[in-house]
Amino acid sequence: MGRIRILSDEVANKIAAGEVVERPASVVKELLENSLDAGATELRIEVAGGGRRLIRVSDNGHGMLRDDAMLAFERHSTSKLSSATDLLSIATLGFRGEALPSIASVARLALETRAADEHTGMRLEVAGGRMQRAEESALAVGTQVTVRDLFYNVPARRKFLRSDQTELAHIASLVTHYSLAHPDKSFWLASEGKELLSVTPVERLRDRVYQVFGSRVTEELIDLGTRERRLEEKLGEDQAAPLYRLRGFVSRPQVQKSNRNSIFLFVNRRLIRDRVLLRALSAAYYNLIPAGAFPFALLFLGCGHEEVDVNVHPSKTEVRFRRQSFVHDFVRDAIREALVESRPVSALPQPAQAQPAAELPYSEFSQRLQAEAWVRALPETPPTAVLPELVLHPTRGPAPRLDFGGPPLSVSEPPRPQPPPLRIPVPDTHGAFPFDAVPEPAASMAELADLRPLGQIHESFIVAAGRDGLWIIDQHVAHERVLFEKILKERAAGRVERQPLLMPLILQLTPAQEAEYQRIAGELEASGFEAEAYGGRSLAVKAAPAGVGPADIEKLLFEILEVAERELRGASLDDVRRAVAASIACRASIKVNMPLDAQRITWLLGALAATDCPMSCPHGRPTALRYSLRAILKGFHRL
Ligand code: ADP
Ligand code: MG
Repeated sequence: MGRIRILSDEVANKIAAGEVVERPASVVKELLENSLDAGATELRIEVAGGGRRLIRVSDNGHGMLRDDAMLAFERHSTSKLSSATDLLSIATLGFRGEALPSIASVARLALETRAADEHTGMRLEVAGGRMQRAEESALAVGTQVTVRDLFYNVPARRKFLRSDQTELAHIASLVTHYSLAHPDKSFWLASEGKELLSVTPVERLRDRVYQVFGSRVTEELIDLGTRERRLEEKLGEDQAAPLYRLRGFVSRPQVQKSNRNSIFLFVNRRLIRDRVLLRALSAAYYNLIPAGAFPFALLFLGCGHEEVDVNVHPSKTEVRFRRQSFVHDFVRDAIREALVESRPVSALPQPAQAQPAAELPYSEFSQRLQAEAWVRALPETPPTAVLPELVLHPTRGPAPRLDFGGPPLSVSEPPRPQPPPLRIPVPDTHGAFPFDAVPEPAASMAELADLRPLGQIHESFIVAAGRDGLWIIDQHVAHERVLFEKILKERAAGRVERQPLLMPLILQLTPAQEAEYQRIAGELEASGFEAEAYGGRSLAVKAAPAGVGPADIEKLLFEILEVAERELRGASLDDVRRAVAASIACRASIKVNMPLDAQRITWLLGALAATDCPMSCPHGRPTALRYSLRAILKGFHRL
């Protein structure tokens, strides 16, 4: 007997399921796409156990004829394609005819559906790929698919699932995105009876963005309007050149995200991942936001169905453009234009000959200090007499304020994990530091315990004399380290200090944030937050960790949720705890642009020296720079 066998449908479906159904959110995606393809205008999604126990999608679409309902569970059965040429221009979200049989092979599925031109509907039950029951049933027009016990017969897949809350967060994020692509439809999502998203039809995309993200985010966005470009080359006499259209929103350059989680790309209303579009987006922001930062973007690219191949991957999340470089340039230029029209305030320095009062963000500021002030051999202007002045200041007893002068710096909000940015008017005497040496991050902290504080630079950096060198300490970062360790110790001992708020702070969460919040609520509470649901997806915060200013509490919570979403899906409890502590420490610590008296400086240096890990802040930035005596001697040509 030959060795080759044709696989049974049961096995083939399970293999397809491996590609199509990766996790509960993939089931939701396939079912939602089917509902949208069926012309539904009301989509309701209910889940339990992060989608593992239950996923139910109901729609008011055109439903299925009774015979079709039976057929839908056959492999490669679809109403959306009939010939291979159809594959060249796919207008529906589905086309492979794989989703229903795949899902039914790895779960218990019930389908209830009725088409408008039939009097009764059909109810089918399939489990593990086998039809269990099929009966006529009195139903309203539309379709409802209920999927229970996902992967009950695929233990290997089950093991790869994350916690219920993580899976729920994926589902919430997916439904949110589809709701953005279809503002004219209503979407409702609930988990175990708790409503996570409920949006009614609206006319404009902007209104949907507002419904989903709230006013805060919407204000930070630039509406692209509708931008179009037609391919220039003529394809044929009677054929119009293909037209591309871009709509959506991008964030102002001031908004900087530390990952791609806030970039949503749709091609012909299909949510996709795509390199060409990502590259175009980053090219549009080139020079406007620093490398390593990402914007928020919600992009809808529309084009002829024959311009894009969607049959690239079984889960249909990737596409291939027929004209990649045209698409890239069009998208880049369209976003660029919108950014320019909205006159962004540049977050980066002006070119070389910066005006004296140019505002620089912290990272740029520090780079520039190195590049221009410290590395350069000789200053253009004579050094200011900082050193004698320093020596004159007494450092013991009630000291005068020890600041080297310089105008105050204005601070604005940082993207994590940056330190609070310094907005510093660039002094025209930069380069005045009187020696030619580059400081190094202090490798050993042995000297730290007996530093003699000398003062502050720009009310932001502490300068101190050590046994064998000169130290510059970032006051914010240093305090962050001190607080981080203190908070973790208090947390471990169950002695967290909290401050009740006079007025509860009401926050509006996105569905994904809500899911994230549910996941880490216990940890937040143990860390000093007290919050409760306040209708819909709002949260009333009644107490916060001590030391965080009232104005910072909101930012702190959103930041924690963002970190949780970005880095902590499936992280251990300990990781969550440390991340929460790091965020609280960052918000509660001494800021830059803060005058400190000698007493506080001494206290801070002592407290830093007493930490377990004084070299760096919880996010890994160095706390101190040090000029060794050797470097100083070299600078004065004494070596
Ligand atoms: P595909 O979407 O690729 O065609 P599916 O397995 O997802 O394959 O669905 C098979 C067929 O079942 C679809 O082609 C469609 O005719 C029908 N169908 C599935 N879901 C619905 C729905 N919610 N409303 C109406 N028809 C549906
Ligand atoms: Mg489908």
